Amino acid sequence: MRYDKENIFAKILKGEIPCDKVFENNNVLSFKDINPQAKTHILIIPKRPFLDISDFLQNADNLYQSNFWKSVDEIINILGLRDKGFQIKTHKGKDGGQEVFHFHLHLLAEI
Ligand code: AMP
Repeated sequence: MRYDKENIFAKILKGEIPCDKVFENNNVLSFKDINPQAKTHILIIPKRPFLDISDFLQNADNLYQSNFWKSVDEIINILGLRDKGFQIKTHKGKDGGQEVFHFHLHLLAEI
């Protein structure tokens, strides 16, 4: 499967579709999931086009991967979740339940 530049998260990144933004820096955008499954349910997406976590892990350079995970940690801290419990999930492929084919993490918490 090839990356589709017109997927919904690509459109959010281009500003063509609005989102409820939580955090943004040069590397990531984070926004509230439109259909929350927990009290806190946000999505964290890289600004670069990766299909899924495998594409990201295989093809993103080390600096970008490092910056991505540092951004995830920054978001966790900003939301006050570092000392609380939370879940991070990602779906990979249709068989893994992925619906939007731009790599994203779900960050879920009950606060
Ligand atoms: P998945 O690809 O299975 O990880 O799921 C995609 C997630 O994106 C789902 O939890 C949707 O509720 C969420 N989603 C889809 N469209 C939007 C949108 N426009 N804004 C925010 N979240 C969305």
